[in-house]
Amino acid sequence: MLNRKKECTGCMACASACPSGAITIKEDPYGFLMPEVDPDQCIECGLCNDICPILGRPERTIPLEAWSLYHKSEEIVRISSSGGAFYGLAEQVLQQDGIVFGCYYDISQKRAYLADTDHLPLKALLTSKYVESDIGRDGLSRVVSEAEKGRQVLFCGTPCQAAGLRRLLQKEYDNLLIADFACGGVAAQPYLSDYLASLEEEYHSPVKRMSFRDKHYGWGQYCFYVEFENGEIYRKTAMSDPYFFCFLRSSMQRLSCHGCLFSDAHQSDLCLSDFWKCDFFDVDRNDRKGLSLALVFTEKGRKRIESLKETMHMQQLPVEEASYHLKSRFCPEEKLPEIYRDMTSARTEGVAALRNRLLSEEQKAFYDRRQQIMDDENERALHPDIVGNGQIMVKA
Ligand SMILES: Cc1cc2nc3c(=O)[nH]c(=O)nc-3n(C[C@H](O)[C@H](O)[C@H](O)COP(=O)(O)OP(=O)(O)OC[C@H]3O[C@@H](n4cnc5c(N)ncnc54)[C@H](O)[C@@H]3O)c2cc1C
Repeated sequence: MLNRKKECTGCMACASACPSGAITIKEDPYGFLMPEVDPDQCIECGLCNDICPILGRPERTIPLEAWSLYHKSEEIVRISSSGGAFYGLAEQVLQQDGIVFGCYYDISQKRAYLADTDHLPLKALLTSKYVESDIGRDGLSRVVSEAEKGRQVLFCGTPCQAAGLRRLLQKEYDNLLIADFACGGVAAQPYLSDYLASLEEEYHSPVKRMSFRDKHYGWGQYCFYVEFENGEIYRKTAMSDPYFFCFLRSSMQRLSCHGCLFSDAHQSDLCLSDFWKCDFFDVDRNDRKGLSLALVFTEKGRKRIESLKETMHMQQLPVEEASYHLKSRFCPEEKLPEIYRDMTSARTEGVAALRNRLLSEEQKAFYDRRQQIMDDENERALHPDIVGNGQIMVKA
């Protein structure tokens, strides 16, 4: 079994494959989910090693096609991270009485996990959660067993989870579509749950709703939105919010993310991402409300993308130029001590203290000012009768 903890991605394909149920999930000291073998139950069949996508050393994959796309419904674009490509794929599956698997963040338990549309509405699975999703001991085998029943199945997860699922399949299923995304890595769950708990203390109220991709300031601005039971709202852009700042700085990511083997070796049928570089292409930019980029890796993926034409605005792109961001992520050994130091600090002191330490006073003042300007500009856009100094003009 994979014993180098810094390489294990936590996809849990090994746990799903284990015939004797000897593999359980344990948290490491940072809160990352790790498979653990019970030696008393292990029958030493070696299946966990055979199935492991890391030990399988994935080969580089080259996309066949690239598409820029956004959903024809403005509401779907608004509530999706980018252009709602995931929603477009999912609604087709549901129309055929199929099942969609994705990540759900349960606010009451403060936990992200693999969920499905037999139990939750599709909208609960939308948007990016910048945290590790607990796939469960048997999460991937549940996906396979639904495909085995002949239902249409869509699975969307991180590239490592998609790779775990691919390894688990004994055969190719026409009715199973595997999607992943251009992943910037995942943080352990306690970083986020501790941070939300600290906000609850500050706002004297439990969290009711949250989003990492609130589009209040526009699609291009990562924005962390939290709504509390008492009606108060916390809304900050990535550089001003401590959790988001530490996440984007890669201070809390799983160690395997720093050397991700799947960033240029997608085992999925399709890879979705934000089409940040849309300005370099001659495409309809949807007034920058949100645009997805889909890279197609298989014939099945190609057919499914083509079938979205009724519900999505789509343009095909030159594949080489559009797949610019597919590059292997290599983390030099000498960077590891710094990564461990930040991860430990974020865990023990909290993300706010780490952000405080990493930014100079000038940088903090700059981001505070920027946040203030964006709030003012937004306020003016929402209420055009506000004059420059923030006073509301009363119309005669
Ligand atoms: C942790 C993470 C890092 C990302 N990093 C980048 C990046 O660096 N560059 C980039 O261009 N795009 C990145 N993305 C992808 C991007 O944010 C959008 O998800 C993508 O553009 C698809 O958008 P959408 O509007 O089609 O769908 P969305 O509505 O965003 O649907 C996203 C799908 O991803 C699943 N999902 C969400 N969070 C998780 C999670 N933590 N684990 C497993 N599955 C999850 C959801 O269940 C859903 O199926 C990242 C996503 C995540 C979750």
